[in-house]
Amino acid sequence: MAYLTQPDFVRYVCSCGQLKPITNLYFCRHCLKIRCGFCICHEVDSHYCANCLENMPSSEARLKKNRCSSCFDCPSCFHTLSTRATFAQTRQDPAAGDAKVENKQAKKMYYLSCFNCRWTSRDVGIPDQPVASGGWPERPNPFSARINQLLDYYKAIAQQEKQEKLDRERKKFAIRGKYITLTDKTGLTGAMARNIAGLPSSESSSSAIANFVPSVASAEVEELPEDYHLREINLKQVTTMAQRLASPEWQPASVARLHPVARPLSVKRSQRCRACDHNLTKPEYNPGSIKFKIELLAFYHMPEVKIISHESVKPGQQSALLLKVSNPTSHEMALRLLPPDHQAETETDETTETHEKNEPKSIEKSLEKSLNLEKDTTWSKVIERKPQMPALSQICIPEVTLTLAQRDDAAEYDDDPQHDTSDIILWRKSNKLALRLKVSTDPSAEVGQPAQVALSLQYSYRNTVPPSAQSAQHRDHTLTTTVLLDLGTVCE
Ligand SMILES: [Zn+2]
Ligand SMILES: [Zn+2]
Ligand SMILES: [Zn+2]
Ligand SMILES: [Zn+2]
Repeated sequence: MAYLTQPDFVRYVCSCGQLKPITNLYFCRHCLKIRCGFCICHEVDSHYCANCLENMPSSEARLKKNRCSSCFDCPSCFHTLSTRATFAQTRQDPAAGDAKVENKQAKKMYYLSCFNCRWTSRDVGIPDQPVASGGWPERPNPFSARINQLLDYYKAIAQQEKQEKLDRERKKFAIRGKYITLTDKTGLTGAMARNIAGLPSSESSSSAIANFVPSVASAEVEELPEDYHLREINLKQVTTMAQRLASPEWQPASVARLHPVARPLSVKRSQRCRACDHNLTKPEYNPGSIKFKIELLAFYHMPEVKIISHESVKPGQQSALLLKVSNPTSHEMALRLLPPDHQAETETDETTETHEKNEPKSIEKSLEKSLNLEKDTTWSKVIERKPQMPALSQICIPEVTLTLAQRDDAAEYDDDPQHDTSDIILWRKSNKLALRLKVSTDPSAEVGQPAQVALSLQYSYRNTVPPSAQSAQHRDHTLTTTVLLDLGTVCE
């Protein structure tokens, strides 16, 4: 696995054309394709607070503006604030002195304190609270009325656009000669359909648009005070940009106005293949768990390539390259090395193609599509690109088929690699193989240029997905992947 600071010396070509290290890739067992963060759907699974691990449904999270109601961050250094208890000194009121005597027991009071920078809620005059959790005074947003107005306006516009799209869709079908409206087919009225889709009725939306008052820019600005540029400033009392922007509603300029920041919620994401809609990763619901229910990561399914060492690449010369290839799957893997351009021929794009051509066949489907939050399908146009393959350096591909044993966790403890006498295999150790390869570089390669080589791996893959009705019966596949190796720069 790569370290965060280490450059990626080995990158795989994703099916969308992006170059990514194997640790950033997923493998769809249904399409048998590599997927990366760019070519999958990211979905929010659940909202939770990373501090108190409270889980909440997305509707509640929206209501709470995606912030935890009981955890706060320090407005000064953004560390999590801790609740501290003190015993409040009961002030003796001379007038009611006698009454207080019985109530002498000190009362516990709570305040928020930062263990990192020592900021406390008392610094800004927030009164101590009688309960440990919650109940902290909320500052009202001075612009909430305007923000709600804007939200209503945008909702109305979105609704209007959706309606127009729906009408267009209907017209399209009318032209084709099979005019069936939702009303005819299902007895639904337009208003009912909107209701089902969770959209406001058209009357209320048109009134929201009509009543909306747009902001008007004004050339007249309040003058700055006379001594504005002459006043001496105390930087200890001025907030930094980050502190100001942590609470965008108030943007306090003075540290005396800093207020605890309600902690933003975190989300658990699940990721989905865009071509077949199957999940690639799905986390466990419990926010305390870091495990996954589904975790189709590429390094569990594809041969992993690592550079052991290499000679420096020189123009017009051959240099040695030692690679380690390992088989992470629990099945034996047959492996062939191929020149990088081979991939285009072997890869068949059946799955994506059928999907793209899958136009809505019925009016119900197309209506359903326009009523739903539109699923973005424009990505398929972006993915047609292929990365530039290095041409100046090439790996001399040996004509052999290698076998890689299945992963054996117990074999990790074996010390002695099995040395092979073959020209290509340097050693073998359970599911790993060290390959001795040669890189030949073109005499025209310029010194100082990055030295890169590409290599395609054709490997056998056994699919362990339980066979379903429509999926293929065969479980054994031959797949190809291309890796790009970074061998530093061309040397003299
Ligand atoms: Zn991708
Ligand atoms: Zn919390
Ligand atoms: Zn702090
Ligand atoms: Zn898929």
